[in-house]
Amino acid sequence: MAPTFIVMLGPPGAGKGTQAKQLAQRMNLVHVSTGDLFRDNLKNETELGVLAQQYMNKGELVPDDVTVRMVEERLSRPDCEEGAVLDGFPRTPAQAEALDDLLAEMGSAVKVVPYIKVPDDVLVERLSGRWMSPSGRVYHEKYNPPKVKWIDDIDGSQLYQREDDKPETVRHRIEVYNEQTSPLIAYYRDKGLLVEIDGTQSIELVTEDLTKAVEEA
Ligand code: ADP
Ligand code: ADP
Repeated sequence: MAPTFIVMLGPPGAGKGTQAKQLAQRMNLVHVSTGDLFRDNLKNETELGVLAQQYMNKGELVPDDVTVRMVEERLSRPDCEEGAVLDGFPRTPAQAEALDDLLAEMGSAVKVVPYIKVPDDVLVERLSGRWMSPSGRVYHEKYNPPKVKWIDDIDGSQLYQREDDKPETVRHRIEVYNEQTSPLIAYYRDKGLLVEIDGTQSIELVTEDLTKAVEEA
């Protein structure tokens, strides 16, 4: 069977990561988050991590060529043979075109693009209450709290708040999204791949809508 590539679209804080992780698990696909990949590089102090950090801390996008090269390398690994759930990529029209080319080379194409829609004011609250586990699991102090405050449910590690989840940086990230990423809504709608999902619902209801959207595709 041809591999299945799903692109999760939506502003920062929409719930892409939360949903992408579950979706990938249910569909037996790999979850590829460019944010997580950059953060891993940062933790391991690689050259790529050092470069990316300058952009991430300011809430700017890492340049397209660097980002595309990283994704190309990730998708070429054997665990992506069946496909992947892409989270946080593409984020610019140039990245979307590069992804189309990359998948075409693999004899594949984007299958469906769930677009999780959430208004800006909700995003700020979501991101300022986001608690991260070093493993990449995502919690929210109010909407998805861990069993014990600041402790990961699964491996007991200490949760932290992302440096770029400060309100000033969040506001800038939303602007960057509106300017550079939101054109992808039309890009994928024109290709007939976009499915809009109301991201203001509870995590469980978003999961239900997302599952339906992917099954129908
Ligand atoms: P993204 O990957 O799109 O930036 P996340 O999945 O990291 O978004 O979610 C942002 C924050 O909002 C997290 O703290 C997460 O627990 C919380 N969250 C995700 N989905 C919902 C939802 N449907 N309702 C309330 N909070 C949510
Ligand atoms: P969020 O979950 O809030 O949407 P991410 O974890 O996806 O944020 O991304 C964090 C940061 O990593 C971004 O603000 C940006 O600096 C960088 N980044 C992630 N993905 C990309 C991408 N596709 N292109 C450029 N920069 C990216």
